[in-house]
Amino acid sequence: MSAVGSEVGADALARLLDDLEAYQGHDIEANLASATAIEQAAREGGDVVLQLRARLVQADMAQRNGDRGGAAQVFLEVQRRAQDMQAPALLARSHFHLALTYSYLGDHAASLEHAISAVEQLDDQASPGLRLMYLIRLANALGDVGSIDAARERYLQAERLATSINDLTRRLLVLNNRAYTEFEAGELAAAAAVVERMHPVAAALGRDFLIVERDTIANIQIGLGEYAAAERTLLSVTDSPLWYEVHDLAEATLTLAGAQRRLGALDRAQRSLDRARTLCEERELTGVRVRVMAEQAELHAATGAFEQAFAEYKRYHAAGEELRSAQQEARAHTRQVMFETAQARDDARRYREQALRDPLTGLRNRRYVDDHLPAAAALAAETRSPLTLALVDVDHFKRINDTLSHDVGDEVLVAVAQVLTSVQQTVADSGFVARMGGEEFLVVLPGVAGGQAAGPLEALRRAVAAHRWAPLTGELPVTVSIGATTTAGDDALTALLADADRMLYAAKRGGRDRVMVLPRAV
Ligand code: GH3
Ligand code: MG
Ligand code: MG
Repeated sequence: MSAVGSEVGADALARLLDDLEAYQGHDIEANLASATAIEQAAREGGDVVLQLRARLVQADMAQRNGDRGGAAQVFLEVQRRAQDMQAPALLARSHFHLALTYSYLGDHAASLEHAISAVEQLDDQASPGLRLMYLIRLANALGDVGSIDAARERYLQAERLATSINDLTRRLLVLNNRAYTEFEAGELAAAAAVVERMHPVAAALGRDFLIVERDTIANIQIGLGEYAAAERTLLSVTDSPLWYEVHDLAEATLTLAGAQRRLGALDRAQRSLDRARTLCEERELTGVRVRVMAEQAELHAATGAFEQAFAEYKRYHAAGEELRSAQQEARAHTRQVMFETAQARDDARRYREQALRDPLTGLRNRRYVDDHLPAAAALAAETRSPLTLALVDVDHFKRINDTLSHDVGDEVLVAVAQVLTSVQQTVADSGFVARMGGEEFLVVLPGVAGGQAAGPLEALRRAVAAHRWAPLTGELPVTVSIGATTTAGDDALTALLADADRMLYAAKRGGRDRVMVLPRAV
């Protein structure tokens, strides 16, 4: 998988990513290298979606390596870009990862929201294998918020998908997750029933249970008081030929010690516990290490060594506090990075938005008109509904500037903008007002036919003239001339605006403070 040349096609890259995304093992470094090579190849091939998918895989690996903050930042960025590009499959993947991020942050509601979005955004093209992975995450998230029935429904759907593609490995994955969720919910009988169904699947696969699966099963057995069975489940774990993560092995060995203590086999329990402790020390597994201390305190108490039990308990308590504050710090760091990413996104949106507004009046500007008027016109043409474009120009504005001041002129422009906006909103459901430059405005009125003098355009003109200008301009009146045109066809926008401009000129020549409309045939 390391040989990813730049000549590799998009389909082949997509398949390589499929494999990496489904990867359940622990060879993080190799996968990181593959994903980086795929990203490079996708960039050279100009395929942005593949590039971003490869970045998600990299971030996923980084997360497994402990860089949760950096990973969360990438997930959020890819989510935003997927939204902008309207790429649902990519969006689904980013939600899928964010569900896990929020679960780590202890925010189960947010985790559930992302898990739901991930499933919702999956399209019909998604493979059953991918869909079932998303369903498992959704089910786990539902379990975390205590919705066990809803979780079961999703596990069943996932199991059905695994059966439909004859994928026993994933079927076992579904069952193991479900068993653990049932166990966590205190549904021990249901958990045991799920374990019963795990046996034939493992047999059909021709393999023993993996360490994680045995740990699930043993925990359920301990919950049911079946300590001897739990010990048997875990006994051969240390010489299991099946792949395992040291973390999983340490957890399982700790569970074994607990089963043996409850069984009264205190020497065996101590040996298991020593082994678990060694594993934790070798690999700096702080979280499991703390639980080893708790188990040691229990074991001392069981052997009647109460002083030692108390001393170990105190050590456990101090280490637990330390671990909690370290975890809290890591979580705070991740939250901070996520907050900053969201903040940067808001800033970018605000800047984009600002670039489309006129700073004096706050109205849309000429650039906004160029960007958005074509879509409004196309929609009108498509629906055969009228669209009126009105150019509004302040009469003798130069006089206001000259006799009063430029500042007063500015204030007049702001007030005219407000009057036009409020009238526009009462005469049309959509559309907008823009400042085209100087003292000239464009009013866009979808659904409005501007033919009648008593109509919306007259309302605009009258509202300006009737405004209480005296506090601002004293004796000087403020009026506007309006040139407009109405269309319901697919006339070229430049032609429409030129018509409106001619009508405006005619209104000025006709004496100002008036409306001139060029009606167009539908
Ligand atoms: P008409 O009735 O024919 O439209 O006459 P007018 O005086 O309104 O038209 P003209 O185009 O001769 O003058 C417009 C003036 O608007 C000229 C310019 O200095 C002024 N102007 C343009 N932008 C601004 C602005 O942002 N603030 C102020 N205060 N004045 C501006
Ligand atoms: Mg003017
Ligand atoms: Mg003008």
